[in-house]
Amino acid sequence: MEDSTLSAQWICHDDNKRKFLEALRRPTGIKEPLFPILVPFLPISSPVETLDWLCMVELENNLPAGSVNSARWVKPVIHRAQNQNCNAQHDTCAICGHEHRTKNCSSYKTLHCVSCEVDDHSSNDQHCPTYEDKCATLNAKHPESSMMYYPTSEPWTQVMLPPKPAPY
Ligand SMILES: [Zn+2]
Ligand SMILES: [Zn+2]
Repeated sequence: MEDSTLSAQWICHDDNKRKFLEALRRPTGIKEPLFPILVPFLPISSPVETLDWLCMVELENNLPAGSVNSARWVKPVIHRAQNQNCNAQHDTCAICGHEHRTKNCSSYKTLHCVSCEVDDHSSNDQHCPTYEDKCATLNAKHPESSMMYYPTSEPWTQVMLPPKPAPY
């Protein structure tokens, strides 16, 4: 992944590493580099703040224990719209749109996008027009969502992503 490569290069600079460590308040040093990632389409019933959930994510994705350091919602729970609760109380497959976890999907090449209600791409398609639309709207409303890191009071987290190149 391009972002991970960039972050890995970034963390290799001693000055950045020092700032990163200061931000983490861990004087002992970095064992593994940490990368912030954004996960779209997470059911809002996911208990992301719990250790159990982090372990479950590691297990489900065959990640080494401890590789998922922490998780939080981009949008704080308290700011959720009331009607957001009915959106995702169950797991909706990001490939075929049926009610099961995406990793348990057994539909062979049966695509369905829940957002667009069409069958020519899956819900987790990066080029889903509804997804791209929502991202554009969100980015316009919340500049922090086009930032490389979750912005905190630390200046190094307040870095904007370079603008997307125009499609040819
Ligand atoms: Zn499925
Ligand atoms: Zn779509």
